[in-house]
Order: sequence, then C-alpha cells, then structure tokens
Amino acid sequence: MNGGKEMSQDFIVVGAGIIGLATAERLLAQGATVTILERGAVGQESSWAGGGILSPLCPWDYPDEVTRLTSYSAALFAAWADSLHAASGIDPEYEASGMLVLPPFDACAAQQWCVAHGVKVERASRAATLAIPIVEKEAGEEGNALLLPEVAQVRNPRLLRALRKRVEALGGRIIEHCTVHDIVVGGGQVQALATACGTFSAQGYIVTAGAWSKQVLGRHAFNLDIKPARGQMLLFRFAAAPLRFILLQGDLYLISRRDGHLLVGSTLEDVGFDKQTTMAARDDLFERAQRLLPALAGMPLVQHWAGLRPASPRNIPAIGRHPQLDNLYINSGHFRYGVTMAPGSAAILSNELTGTPQPFDVTPYRAGWGI
Ligand SMILES: Cc1cc2nc3c(=O)[nH]c(=O)nc-3n(C[C@H](O)[C@H](O)[C@H](O)COP(=O)(O)OP(=O)(O)OC[C@H]3O[C@@H](n4cnc5c(N)ncnc54)[C@H](O)[C@@H]3O)c2cc1C
Repeated sequence: MNGGKEMSQDFIVVGAGIIGLATAERLLAQGATVTILERGAVGQESSWAGGGILSPLCPWDYPDEVTRLTSYSAALFAAWADSLHAASGIDPEYEASGMLVLPPFDACAAQQWCVAHGVKVERASRAATLAIPIVEKEAGEEGNALLLPEVAQVRNPRLLRALRKRVEALGGRIIEHCTVHDIVVGGGQVQALATACGTFSAQGYIVTAGAWSKQVLGRHAFNLDIKPARGQMLLFRFAAAPLRFILLQGDLYLISRRDGHLLVGSTLEDVGFDKQTTMAARDDLFERAQRLLPALAGMPLVQHWAGLRPASPRNIPAIGRHPQLDNLYINSGHFRYGVTMAPGSAAILSNELTGTPQPFDVTPYRAGWGI
C-alpha cells in the first residue's frame, strides 16, 4: 500500500495487531522511520482471533460513520492483499466469497441501504443456495435470504504474517515482549515511553493497543471509551470447503476457508479482560451452527478460542491527534470490524500526519477522545 506525501519523521507505534502493523506499513512506505513496541508477540490478540469477514455483518444496522470507513477500507483490500502476497510470499487468501444473509433481518432496510450505497445484492436464488441444503429451507422458494456477492474474506493469521514481513522488509523495527508502562510528558508533548525494555523516544507516538489502548494512555486518555468485548470462535475441518458463501444469521456466522477449515462465530461478551473460553458458548455456537449446516454433526472441534475486541461506542474508532499532546496519536477502537477497517484507518491517520486531503469527512473519528 502506498500513496500520500513523503515524510521523514520517526514514530513509535504501541501494539502490533493489524492496526499497528497496517499503520506502520503505511508510514514506512511514505519514508518514515518506525519502531513498534509489542507487549507479547506480534498479531496474537484480537487480530489473530477474528473471522476475517471484510464487511459489517448486517451493514444496514450500523451508522454511516462505520459503513463509510468499512466501505472505503474494504475497497482497498484486494490490492493491499495482493501487494502483501507479492512482497512477502505469504498469501492472505483474500477471496470475494460473498455473504448469504439468512432471515430474520429487516429486508426493507437492507434493500434500501444496498440501493442507496450502490452495493450489489441478490435475492438468494435457488441455484445460489443449492450447495447448502438447509439454506434452501431457510431462504424459502421466494428467496427470503439476501446474497451480498461482493463481500470478501481473508485469513487473519496469514495476513498478519505477511504484514509483519512487509513491515520488516521496509525497515520497520519490531520489539516484542516489551510492555509500555508510562507516557512521559513535558512541554505539551510526549517526551518518551517508559517500557519493560527501556525508555524509547521519537518525534511521534501512535497508540494502536486495541482493547488495552485506554490503559496505555493512562491519565492522558481523556474520555476515550474503549473497553474489551470478548468474542469466542470455533474451528472445524472438512475434507473440502463445505460452503460456497459466508453464512450469516443474526450474530452467528460460518466462514468456509479454501482448505476445508470452517470457522463458527461468535459471542459478544462484556467480561472485562477475561480471555477464557466457556463450555456454554461452545455448545451454543455448535448447536446453532449445526442447524444451518447439518454436516457439522459429529465433526470434531479442532480449536476453540477467544479474543478481546476493542469495543467503542457505536463501533466508531478513534483516529487522530491527542487534544493536548501534539505528537501523540491514536488509531484504535475498531470493535467488530478492525480487520475490515485496517488499511482505511491507516490511510486516514497518515493523511492527518502529512496534511493530505482525506477521502471523506473524518471528524467523527477525531471525536473518539470524547471532548
Ligand atoms: C471473535 C472475533 C471475531 C472477529 N471477526 C472480525 C471479522 O470477521 N472482521 C473484522 O473486520 N473484524 C473482526 N473482529 C474484530 C477485529 O479482530 C478487531 O477489531 C481488530 O483485530 C483490532 O485490532 P487491533 O490491532 O486494534 O487490536 P489487537 O489485535 O488486539 O492488537 C493490540 C496489540 O496491542 C498490544 N498491547 C496491549 N497493551 C500493550 C502495551 N502496554 N504495550 C505494548 N503493546 C501492548 C497487544 O498485545 C496486542 O498485540 C473480530 C474480533 C474477534 C475477537
């Protein structure tokens, strides 16, 4: 990914999830020097745990501030994934697999939203549903289901590995197992970061610490409202891809990968920083998924995990400069759609840093500081 004006500043990015890595890549490609400080290992938190659907689940349920950013960012994805594949040799498996939305949902709002936003939509035809017998039943002969054929997916762990390689190839320095403990301030600016592995200074500082962003900012967090929201996910393995489309019903989704892996997600739980999985969630997801895909019955569970999404009010991330410290920035709070929003959010932040015109009004993301 490239574009935008050149810059010669040096930055420290706090947190190496998809948002930190995408931000670093963007800045490096524009000539900046970047060091990423990561508390654990690169890309092992929410970004690893996510499903990789490149769209809000039911886009018509979200405010414009969310869909404007997801649409802009999703449109950058195919080229971004290609460029990462070419540069790293790791294929993030970007695929416009389409998403089939099953009832119940507000069909009228859905149709209107798709028309207003120029989004391709089809009533699920008999032919489209043939690969998924149960869907025929759910969709009915009249086609009560909606197919969004342009919705794409990626495989998060692969995307993260490709992105890491790209960041390092561009000269980015990544320091793992290095927790940022404190922000040292003086003269209206950040002077340094105190960390478990020493003190680090740069001209600019960017917090991309996901669900932990408020903790990292500490007394400088203003009214930033980002907190963890646990999501649990199940993984199964078939001999071949069991579904043609991503399948969505309410908050349940099934994502079929090329190699036969099937992801079932997800829960949305307000349990603080607790990343444990629960048997109740496992049983509930499994049972509901089986109703959509009976072939799941008897399939062994390959893996069950949980991740902590960076939850923000109305799912609107905070992107931009700190209200008082003029070399401190945030790019966080992407809640349910941080993978989708990653390249777009990185572009918006780098536009702000270089004074490049924004692709649309980004005021709502600056409001994330809560002032
Ligand atoms: C179950 C589940 C399903 C999801 N499905 C989708 C989906 O289909 N599509 C989609 O677009 N999004 C999805 N998401 C949301 C998406 O994964 C997140 O919005 C996104 O990963 C947030 O990225 P991030 O880089 O901000 O956070 P993270 O990936 O959590 O990265 C933050 C990093 O900061 C580090 N850090 C924290 N504190 C410190 C510190 N003090 N010092 C240094 N480093 C620190 C952490 O270790 C971590 O590596 C899903 C999330 C979950 C949990």
